[in-house]
Amino acid sequence: MSEANMNSTPGQPRAGLSTRCVHAGDIRDPEGAIHPPLYGHSTFAFDSTADLLDVVEGRVEGNLYTRYGLNPTIRSLERKLDDLEDAPVALAFGSGMAAEAATFLAHVITGDHIVCLGDVYGGTFELLGENLPRLGIDTTFLTASEVGRLPEVLTDRTRIVFFETPTNPGLDVFDIAAITAQAHSVGALVVVDNTFATPVNQNPLRHGADLVVHSATKYLGGHSDLTAGLVAGPADLLAPIAGWRKNLGQVIAPEIASLLARSIRTLVVRVRAQNAAATAVAEFLAEHPRVTKVNHPSLATGDQAAIVKNQMRGHGGMLSFLVDGDAATTAAVVDRLRVFSIAASLGGAESLVTQPITTTHHGLDPAERARRGIADSMIRLSIGLEDADDLIADLAQALESPAITLGPPPSGS
Ligand code: PLP
Repeated sequence: MSEANMNSTPGQPRAGLSTRCVHAGDIRDPEGAIHPPLYGHSTFAFDSTADLLDVVEGRVEGNLYTRYGLNPTIRSLERKLDDLEDAPVALAFGSGMAAEAATFLAHVITGDHIVCLGDVYGGTFELLGENLPRLGIDTTFLTASEVGRLPEVLTDRTRIVFFETPTNPGLDVFDIAAITAQAHSVGALVVVDNTFATPVNQNPLRHGADLVVHSATKYLGGHSDLTAGLVAGPADLLAPIAGWRKNLGQVIAPEIASLLARSIRTLVVRVRAQNAAATAVAEFLAEHPRVTKVNHPSLATGDQAAIVKNQMRGHGGMLSFLVDGDAATTAAVVDRLRVFSIAASLGGAESLVTQPITTTHHGLDPAERARRGIADSMIRLSIGLEDADDLIADLAQALESPAITLGPPPSGS
């Protein structure tokens, strides 16, 4: 069987992103199967001890044992993933948190320091704020408005600067190239969580980041029916991460790898449709009298707009907004939605809604939430693949229903 890596054909123009989503990592199956077959097997046999040693000692790339990632279905998926992120290598994991945890464990040791910028997924807050401190690894958290203080908090102990862009749930964007220049000045690595943007809209490695991580559970999986993660970057940075993945047993299951590769074939059309629908929804909400603020990269102004223009090719399917009301009133708006489902995840074909204080950021201290602008009245939307008009009509009825009292009545009524 031969494998196609569409990243590395010297002297030939590179295939477009849609073509690579469909074909990168393809295996030419001798039986003629149109897609790489699913090898669920845990182990692989050799013709001789010499052949086995070639793989064990790294002289030949081959299959050996699935927990090591040396399985044809997993290797084929990883070829697709590295291609999408413009990375030499990618490693696939059983979840986004598994990918993040292995990345931190591989690149920090007791006494080291991490800087985390802006809002991040609640599980990442826990990992950095509760789990890693037990190993003597401390993290400085800067809010989005404090990012200018990064040079002050970097020390000779800082090994990693970590951030999401756009962030969850405030949709702030950070300048990857500028932050990387600052981090590199003290020898720290930059790790970007590209889950919200997806490789369709942004490639952090092109802007200087050292490693990119994803919860592939979200847009890459795209159908809310699998859990997976990945990290991509240069081989020397990924080698120690592969060691932790192997010995913590965090590798993606071949069955999930096959399902994820299936989903990535349609990634570009899905994400572009979600970009367009989210922009239409953001424009509707921005004009709505009962909405006080809308966060979506398409509405960015000033410095944020310049960053979006420079490093993003599309605005993404995630947005958040504030309603004119308290926590209970906001929950009532959420509960009236009919097309949106109340759920904590994102990136699927179906639109999801959540009030961050009840789910993704429920575990965060209320004072810390307030410091970060994660208001009780914030609603986060993951725009799916329904018609934008239906999503807008659903939001209109939820916001305008006479059963809900939102702030003071409009003047004249
Ligand atoms: N990163 C982001 C931005 C997320 O939203 C999530 C999960 O919601 C994660 C990482 C963790 O991913 P997983 O749930 O696949 O472990």
